[in-house]
Amino acid sequence: MSEKTPTIELGLAQIEELAKSCLLNHGCDEANAAAAARTMAAAERDGSESHGLFRLPATLASLRSGKVNGRARPVEESLTPAAIRLDADRGLAPLAIEMGVPLLAEAAKTMGVAVLLIRNSFHFTALWPEVEALAERGMVGLACTVHTPMMAPFGAKKAFFSTNPISFAYPRPGRDPYVFDMATAAKARGEVGIAARDGHEVPPGVGLDADGNPTTDAKKIHDGGVILPFGGYKGSAIATMIELLAAGLVGDYFSYEAIKVDNRDGGPAIGGEFILAMSPQVLAGPGWAEHSDAFLDELEAMEGVRLPGQRRFANRASTAPRHINAELVTSLRDLL
Ligand code: NDP
Repeated sequence: MSEKTPTIELGLAQIEELAKSCLLNHGCDEANAAAAARTMAAAERDGSESHGLFRLPATLASLRSGKVNGRARPVEESLTPAAIRLDADRGLAPLAIEMGVPLLAEAAKTMGVAVLLIRNSFHFTALWPEVEALAERGMVGLACTVHTPMMAPFGAKKAFFSTNPISFAYPRPGRDPYVFDMATAAKARGEVGIAARDGHEVPPGVGLDADGNPTTDAKKIHDGGVILPFGGYKGSAIATMIELLAAGLVGDYFSYEAIKVDNRDGGPAIGGEFILAMSPQVLAGPGWAEHSDAFLDELEAMEGVRLPGQRRFANRASTAPRHINAELVTSLRDLL
């Protein structure tokens, strides 16, 4: 955040309480509010600023408009011993994820590989919580989801994909997992939104303005422009894969379909999430942890290399208050 942007210091418990109170006040029941507030507070704790309290005003708008069911009760269905489908009942994703991940990890523990297909949910957060929760249970995790169009496929000037995030975690017993969590966009929409709000530029290649011209003005990209995939046609292909996994395979809306049923209240879009769990104990067998650790240690020891996730884990280690955008805190308090 810019040094010029006024902030308010909030402790981690205060952040969670603020989020939970707002959610309770806007139609969530205890279970839904608690799960969503935990996820947002974890994002602020880790310095995932674009997926913490920043997401709350739009989420509350979707509760007010009735698009999101604040009293959702996710229901699971076993398709096979290795495939679980979970209907999130049009609720916020965190409750469905908190319910589904332990079931998925158990299935992968016996089957070696298992999938969790979440339907009918509103995903508005980062994707590392679900894969880290799998890694904590000794599983390799991979997750992806879609939203509504905001990213142009390689070669196009109009949005067709969402910024299609994908996350991956590999457990390291006794240590933080190897984990990455990234949009397949050159920059996540939340990051572009924060840059637009704070009057910052973004690097070249991040997006086009409303006329399809390249720009570094975050506001022009955010307001009517379009974000581009990372890595040109390669990022475009990965974004396509994510649409096929999180919508095609899950049996929920593709980004271009989700926008047609959205009420445009500015909040998250309905859709699915694909989560894959793999047991290294079953698949690689004894010694897998030492073998993989040695590889990651070699990688990390190379000059100039830092492992993804390390910035967040360093932030997590601090219990100090977090500096939250003052305007955001004031507007949330006004909503209470
Ligand atoms: P970043 O580009 O900031 O980071 C992507 C990954 O790369 C992170 O794991 C990060 O680790 C790692 N990383 C960053 N810099 C380095 C470096 N120098 N060396 C090694 N690794 C590095 O994230 P994005 O902007 O792409 O995405 C931000 C968030 O937006 C994600 O959490 C994503 O899930 C979320 N998102 C959610 C959507 C939804 O619909 N729910 C839609 C789109 C995005 P670290 O965190 O430790 O820096």
